[in-house]
Amino acid sequence: MIELIVAERCTDCGACIEVCPANVLDPGRGGPPILARVEDCQTCFMCELYCRADAIYVAPDCGRRVAVSEAEVLASGRLGRYRKHSGWDEWAEQFPNEQWLMETVFRRAGEAAAQARAERPAAAKE
Ligand code: SF4
Ligand code: SF4
Repeated sequence: MIELIVAERCTDCGACIEVCPANVLDPGRGGPPILARVEDCQTCFMCELYCRADAIYVAPDCGRRVAVSEAEVLASGRLGRYRKHSGWDEWAEQFPNEQWLMETVFRRAGEAAAQARAERPAAAKE
């Protein structure tokens, strides 16, 4: 699940908000995007892939959140690693990119989940 956004790296480009298929993020108020609905995160890594500032950390555990601090993530060298090793964007010439198809898969899954939520009877949403 998405765990954090490193504020000092974020350029406020909004790409992560736009690509998230599960609508997890909201625009920040003068700061990085807000992790508004983490429980909806699909651990798809799309936000990480599209963050050119390498500011987002998504932990591989898709069932629960893990306790990790900004300092730990910065020191770990994990920021941007998934993006790099996926051959995303500027890394396309150096690493094989096997993520492009998954983008469509996750987007469709997100759309289906949103539609199911919208069609759920009002009582079930409470
Ligand atoms: S990992 Fe996927 S679902 Fe989770 S916040 Fe990032 S883009 Fe959204
Ligand atoms: S994609 Fe990265 S730089 Fe852009 S708003 Fe999201 S966290 Fe900030």
